[in-house]
Amino acid sequence: MRVLIRGVAVIPKPEVGVIPKADVVIEGRRYAAVVVGEEVSGPFDKIVEGEGKLLIPGLVNAHTHLAMTLFRGLAQDRPLMDWLEKEVWPREKKLTGEIVRWFSLLGLVEMIRCGTTAFADMYFFMEEVGEAVEKAGVRALLSYGIIAPTPERIEPELKKAESFVREWDGEAEGRIRAAFSPHAPYTCGPEVWKRTVSLAKELRVPIHTHLSETKEEVERFRAKEGRSPVEWLEELGVFGVHTLAAHGVHLSEKDIEILAAHNVHVAHCPTSNLKLACGIAPVVEMLRTGVNVCLGTDGAGSAGDLNMVEEMRLAALLAKVKTGDPQALPAAEALGLATWRGAAALGWGKELGTIEPGRRADGVIIRLDRAHLLPNYDLLANLVYAAQGSEVETVFVDGHFLLLEGEMQTLDEEEILGRCRELAKKFK
Ligand SMILES: [Zn+2]
Repeated sequence: MRVLIRGVAVIPKPEVGVIPKADVVIEGRRYAAVVVGEEVSGPFDKIVEGEGKLLIPGLVNAHTHLAMTLFRGLAQDRPLMDWLEKEVWPREKKLTGEIVRWFSLLGLVEMIRCGTTAFADMYFFMEEVGEAVEKAGVRALLSYGIIAPTPERIEPELKKAESFVREWDGEAEGRIRAAFSPHAPYTCGPEVWKRTVSLAKELRVPIHTHLSETKEEVERFRAKEGRSPVEWLEELGVFGVHTLAAHGVHLSEKDIEILAAHNVHVAHCPTSNLKLACGIAPVVEMLRTGVNVCLGTDGAGSAGDLNMVEEMRLAALLAKVKTGDPQALPAAEALGLATWRGAAALGWGKELGTIEPGRRADGVIIRLDRAHLLPNYDLLANLVYAAQGSEVETVFVDGHFLLLEGEMQTLDEEEILGRCRELAKKFK
């Protein structure tokens, strides 16, 4: 399959900025050429007209719980633990594979429609999520969330996590990779972490976890263990494995140095952190110290939606207010968090994240003919500060179209919405 995207504005990578008009050629699963100022010769199996549109690398949502779309809008505006204990956990006991499958598909429709091509997901019934991802055609790092509050839970939880990794890592022609996910340092003891590290090393897969999300969690941890969660994980040898840690809101200077020294990837989740009043992660300090920071939405139950365009904008705004510097995290850097940095965090750093010959052809085409995107002085600034996500018109992964000129190609959107409307009635 040879595809031409003709006469499109392109941001191949943030530091290059905007190429106002180019012909982009995809051959099979990879980008073959970005041609400026000359005719590209055919034949092509498909030509997508790019006039008046902007092509960017696919957005990477580095932390979510897809099937939690089930809990969107449920008992909102509550403290995190109160909401989890009284509303979410009792309902999660009623989850079935079927429910996780349909609400994962719902999350996938939402994510594809606003330009996400890859994501990291941690939840339960992950086989169902894997099948949904396979069908949708997106790319994902998937993991079973291990929660082992008592010793007798350790074996069955590790077993579930391990069999998922063995079965799913490398599936869907390599679009699915698997990870281990001890939920957090405060929900999994040292035994779980040590065992996970040796399994992750043996099976050569990453660890995806939650880290230092709330102030109370970190204070309680310090009081009990005499050190920060980051110091504790380092001592256990966890960071010897490729680690993706969500949140990183409450970090000391020493924590940040440890994360940088071990190449830990931190998924900043602005909406979730704001909505739960967790605080503002020290993104600028982390980047300055050498930590790879990327972006995630977290689950739609706690964050409201799964819109990476919004997360980019919020990340840029929060970095400015946190540092008191309007020059902090400029638009190009915000786009970097949502693209190549996310790709690196998911373990696809050499393959994805930019539009260059040889890279995997994951991309998003955005319509520019909207009132809120005019004038076109700086398309990159408009993308970060004015776009809403709804302008996304075409999305492809591995050169395969998932959304084409506004139409879903791989998923039956109407059926998914209908089934989810019905299934949600049991959960109110
Ligand atoms: Zn989370």
